[in-house]
Amino acid sequence: MAKVVLEHIYKQYPSDNKPTIQDFHLEIHDKEFLVIVGPSGCGKSTTLRMIAGLEEISDGTVSIDDRTMNHVEPKDRNIAMVFQNHALYPHMTVYENIAFGLKMKKMDEKEIDQRVRHAAQMLDMESYLDQRPKTLSGGQHQRVALGRAMVREPELFLLDEPLSNLDATLRVHMRTEIRKLHQRLGTTTIYVTHDQTEAMTMGDRVVVMKDGVIQQVAIPNELYHHPANLFVARFMGSPTMNVLDGILSEEDGLLFFIAEGARWKIPAEKASSLREKGYIGKSIILGFRPEALQDEPESPSRPNTFKAEIEMMEHTGSEMTLYLKGVGRGGMTARVKSPSEYRLGSQLTLSVKMDQVYIFDKETEEAVV
Ligand code: ADP
Ligand code: MG
Repeated sequence: MAKVVLEHIYKQYPSDNKPTIQDFHLEIHDKEFLVIVGPSGCGKSTTLRMIAGLEEISDGTVSIDDRTMNHVEPKDRNIAMVFQNHALYPHMTVYENIAFGLKMKKMDEKEIDQRVRHAAQMLDMESYLDQRPKTLSGGQHQRVALGRAMVREPELFLLDEPLSNLDATLRVHMRTEIRKLHQRLGTTTIYVTHDQTEAMTMGDRVVVMKDGVIQQVAIPNELYHHPANLFVARFMGSPTMNVLDGILSEEDGLLFFIAEGARWKIPAEKASSLREKGYIGKSIILGFRPEALQDEPESPSRPNTFKAEIEMMEHTGSEMTLYLKGVGRGGMTARVKSPSEYRLGSQLTLSVKMDQVYIFDKETEEAVV
């Protein structure tokens, strides 16, 4: 059993003028698979290294099962960490590589043998135990690195972008493998990645970070459908959420979003909430995902439309992504059915499904409704 509690953690490097991590506060449940996601440099590795004890904590406490770990040596923390660059010993066999840490601890040979074989079996690597790393594929390398962590039977796994070096197909495969392994072992795991798809597909819960600050902690679906702010909204989901700056204007008791080339009606439910919060007449940011755009002319007088020109198209099988010119912040994307009649430069009229829009405060960029 391993519950990890991070209380108001700060990290300040002497060379930096502001903290790298600010007020990281979170409880990670026993047996949970928690993913920390955010752009490069946001402090993911620093956070993980503080949990492992490889980096000093400037302020706050880390505890595992109610035991404060701040001053416990890394080797005494019962944590196993897997990095992106997991160098295996080239002159040792797979067996020896997996066993190495246990040998160093002078564990009983028989016990080592049991653990190594058990790990190899879990990882489907039994028939490779006598081989040397240079004969293995990238995915097998990664499994050996996992095996090395597993045999230590830690109460906590810390994985820092362990799949970044693998090619796309293998990465997708290994995501599933790591999840399956977690289901079998049930070891509490903290997994760090910059890849939002990886976070969405792997995490029981996901922590989104930006500039050393937690933006939101939620289950993947919640992050996608109820982002707390503009950053989360745009970071999760690909292509990113479309964003437009405009004003909320009331006309005859109805609320409209007004921007260049747009006069879109806000649905009643959202409108009353916006009214209550005092957003009438204010500048706001409106966001909607590419799938919230409709290109089929259901009726000649569709509401909530705008005109756009196709700048680029991407085919992804049954659907395609249209990159639209001259609208939104830095253009817009729409996801439509494929095949279609569209060509580069085609002019089209799209309508926005207004029940699927998000509204963000112009100043704070927090989600309003
Ligand atoms: P991530 O893993 O999310 O890419 P890191 O945790 O590696 O981010 O780094 C976060 C920030 O901390 C970066 O701006 C980086 O430059 C800074 N940083 C990391 N390690 C050190 C260090 N040893 N000294 C000073 N600054 C550091
Ligand atoms: Mg990192």
